[in-house]
Amino acid sequence: MKTALVTGGSRGIGRAICEELHKRGYHVLINYVSNDAAAAECLQAVGGEGELLKFDVGNADAVKSALEGWQKAHPEEYIEVLVNNAGIRKDNLLIWQEPEEWHQVIDTNLNSWYYVTRAVLQPMLLHKYGRIVNVASLSGIKGLPGQTNYSAAKGGLIAATKALAQEVARKKVTVNAVAPGFIKTDMVEGLDEAALKKDIPAARFGEPEEVAAMVGFLASPEASYVTGEIISINGGLYT
Ligand code: NAP
Repeated sequence: MKTALVTGGSRGIGRAICEELHKRGYHVLINYVSNDAAAAECLQAVGGEGELLKFDVGNADAVKSALEGWQKAHPEEYIEVLVNNAGIRKDNLLIWQEPEEWHQVIDTNLNSWYYVTRAVLQPMLLHKYGRIVNVASLSGIKGLPGQTNYSAAKGGLIAATKALAQEVARKKVTVNAVAPGFIKTDMVEGLDEAALKKDIPAARFGEPEEVAAMVGFLASPEASYVTGEIISINGGLYT
C-alpha cells in the first residue's frame, strides 16, 4: 500500500487531509505531538488503516529518530506523499513578543519543514515519484498584524516551496503549498468570526474538508504538471 505522512494529522485541517488521503487509497502516517485522544479518534476515522507517529516536528532529533525508525521497520516502503501541515500560532504585537513566542512558532511552522522534508526527500528522488504539499497561510502572503512570527514562518514556507519545486521537478517530485484563510478548527477558537466574516466575500469561515480536497488533488498522480504553486483557499479574501 502507498504511504503518506501528514504532520499535525490528528486534528483540524490535518485530520481532514488524513481522511482524504485514506479515501484515495493511502496508508496514512498520522503525526501529532501531545493529544493522544484526538490522534486515536483520527486513526479510527481512517478505519484503523494508518499508523500514529508521535513526535515534535520542531525538534530535529525527534524527527530524525521517528522517521529513521519508521523506515527501518518498513525497508520495502517509502513515504511518497508528505503533507507538512503541523503548525501553531502565538500571536502578539512585535513590541510585546517574547523570544519563546518567536522561536516556538518558527520551529514548529518552518524549521520543521526542513527537518521532515529532508528526511523523506531522498527516497522520493530515488523512486522518481513524490508529492510534497505544504500548508502555508494567508498570513504568509499578506502578512497579518500581531503575527510577525507566524507570517515570517509561513512566508518562509512559501519561498521554500518555490525553491525546492525547481530543485526536484526533473525527478518527478512536485512541491506545492496551500494558503488557507480562516478555517474552522481549534486554531481559530477565540477569533471574532462574526466580525471577520464581514471581510470574506464568501461570508463564512471555511471547513477543513475544503482545504483537504485541494491537498488531495495536489497529492495525486493527476497533479503531475503542477509544481511550485501556492493555492489560496480563503473564500475570496483578496491577498
Ligand atoms: P489545529 O486544529 O490546532 O491542529 C494542529 C495539529 O498540529 C494537531 O494535530 C497538533 O497535534 C499538531 N501539532 C502542533 N504542534 C505540533 C508539533 N510541534 N509537532 C507535531 N504536531 C504538532 O490546527 P489547524 O487549524 O488544523 O492548522 C493546521 C495547519 O493549517 C497549520 O499549519 C496552520 O498554521 C494552518 N492554517 C490554519 C488556518 C486556520 O484558519 N485554521 C489558516 C491558515 C493556515 P496535537 O493534537 O497533539 O496538539
